[in-house]
Amino acid sequence: MSELVIKNLHVNVEDTEILKGVDLTIKSGEVHAVMGPNGTGKSTLAYALMGHPKYNVTKGKATLNGQDLLNLDPNERSSLGLFLAFQYPVAVPGVSVANFLRTALNAHRKYEDPEDKGISIPDFRKKLKEKMALLKMDQSFAGRYLNDGFSGGEKKRVEILQMATLEPKFSILDETDSGLDIDALKIVSDGINAISSENHGVLVITHYQRILNYIKPDFVHVMLHGRIVQSSGPELALKLEDEGYEWLREKHAA
Ligand code: ADP
Ligand code: MG
Repeated sequence: MSELVIKNLHVNVEDTEILKGVDLTIKSGEVHAVMGPNGTGKSTLAYALMGHPKYNVTKGKATLNGQDLLNLDPNERSSLGLFLAFQYPVAVPGVSVANFLRTALNAHRKYEDPEDKGISIPDFRKKLKEKMALLKMDQSFAGRYLNDGFSGGEKKRVEILQMATLEPKFSILDETDSGLDIDALKIVSDGINAISSENHGVLVITHYQRILNYIKPDFVHVMLHGRIVQSSGPELALKLEDEGYEWLREKHAA
């Protein structure tokens, strides 16, 4: 069993405090959703956990199985089993999806064992084929340049393919639902569900409740003004769907 623990996390972006003390514990096997209006700090939480240099942790801590994450480089955090699916995936022309994934996978293996020579090409091909089938992706994707000219839905699918290939302990999905039509949302959600296991903890960041019809959260948290102001079971997502965020804004004026 693994545990991702976030305690009293304060994060600045360019001298403005965005996160003002976030507490959150996720155990493997659990699905947590963080919901909230735009601009409340949801992506800031994701970036700060992953180690984006623009997101400056000023206070608090984050640990994975007791190990401090905050003094590690993003690649080390990734090797330890933390994964972030970006809200806005970037294109890398010149690097194929397959090459990118194999490089990332081999970097993880090397982190674990400096003597590791990397996954063999046939083994990698087999693994990639399997994971692409899981996500109902056409095999031709593997040879295309990463996110180059991909539709919104295709980009999100590649993020999940990356997650499936790297087999992290904890995944943060930042608005994976945005820009997806209902069919793509179903395929992506099915893919996430197919990967989820008792060895995998998931943090779904979303503005809308819609994706939570497909990925069932065990816990729902609401973020407002850089704090988690409410935590509850899945019924909270339905209440937010019905009533919006206004009642919470009134209760927690900035
Ligand atoms: P959410 O994901 O909940 O919509 P964000 O975490 O993206 O919110 O943003 C929270 C606040 O931090 C916003 O006011 C936003 O303008 C600011 N912010 C986030 N990232 C940056 C950045 N890279 N540069 C400047 N301001 C930022
Ligand atoms: Mg965001």
